[in-house]
Amino acid sequence: MTEKKELIYDCLILGSGPAGFSAAIYAQRGNLKTAILDINMFGGQPSNYLEIENYPGFSSISGYELMEKFEQHADKFKVDKFPMLEIENVNLQKKEIETKDTIFKGKTIIIATGAQAKQLNIEGEAEFKGRGVSYCAICDGAFYKDKTLAVVGGGNSALEEAIYLTKFAKKVYIIHRREGLRADKLVCKRACENNKLEFIMCTIPLKIEGTKTVEKLILKDLNTDTIKELNVDGVFPYIGLKPNTDMFNGQLEQNQNGFIETDVNLQTSVKGVYAAGDVRNTPLRQVITAASDGAICANSAVKYLEAYDDELKNKYPSNII
Ligand code: NAP
Repeated sequence: MTEKKELIYDCLILGSGPAGFSAAIYAQRGNLKTAILDINMFGGQPSNYLEIENYPGFSSISGYELMEKFEQHADKFKVDKFPMLEIENVNLQKKEIETKDTIFKGKTIIIATGAQAKQLNIEGEAEFKGRGVSYCAICDGAFYKDKTLAVVGGGNSALEEAIYLTKFAKKVYIIHRREGLRADKLVCKRACENNKLEFIMCTIPLKIEGTKTVEKLILKDLNTDTIKELNVDGVFPYIGLKPNTDMFNGQLEQNQNGFIETDVNLQTSVKGVYAAGDVRNTPLRQVITAASDGAICANSAVKYLEAYDDELKNKYPSNII
């Protein structure tokens, strides 16, 4: 058996969305030898956002373009980049990340793995995935020219993606479980002004039915308990996020929904391990807050390593350390 290669860094960053790239820029600029690792292509969740209009400095920019700029910025500081990794094991106590042929060893780790779409967990959802059930309007919207669609959820994602889908579909229903939307007021206003959109409030989906592809959605009106059928060709659930923490579960403190708990320096319950962006327990999940988290984490990592160096200097003669 061939030995795995070892790569040693001051700061290992897991995840390459706005939190990861911001952390990488701050860490490398803070003189830490830094690597950014991802199991996917770089860019994270925002790469799929059609338009971002609340990231200061850019009144309107596609998520893909903004994330390209983040990456180019990290390149300027010569951050080492490892996309599309098959990670076999993460040991946060030892600060090691293991792939098939490499062991990445870090003095600090910043977790910026983000979050992914939550499932409805109703009958028919898994069965029709890719045959009428989709979690990505950008990827699949064009397949639904002149069709009728349902989007589930009342947040920014649901409304923005529903508006996008009206470019193709002849009608898009937004199914939301209560009165009052969660999305930003401006997005709500745009949705209300779009005459291809129709809201069905206080209603939840119970079942997705069809033969080869999706044909109908079975709904329950929560005010009247009435069950009704809605003929649709596709269902797009946008009901929030689930943190990408499978590889660390059980190794650090998480809340009841799995989001990572951090202190004021964004340190997790493991010393020298930090969490930034959507993966942590935070009141706001935006590109700007993720980027801000990344900067705080990198700064905390710099301070942690400075203190560590001081400890060593006190312990050993200064001509050795
Ligand atoms: P979200 O804001 O958490 O909204 C999830 C929506 O789904 C809520 O309306 C929620 O209803 C509903 N929901 C949750 N579980 C449900 C279930 N089991 N059945 C039916 N409905 C359910 O999630 P998001 O829209 O994905 O957004 C996530 C974060 O990304 C947010 O912070 C958002 O602002 C941000 N984001 C930003 C942009 C942008 O800046 N361009 C774009 C997209 C998203 P309740 O309202 O009743 O809880």
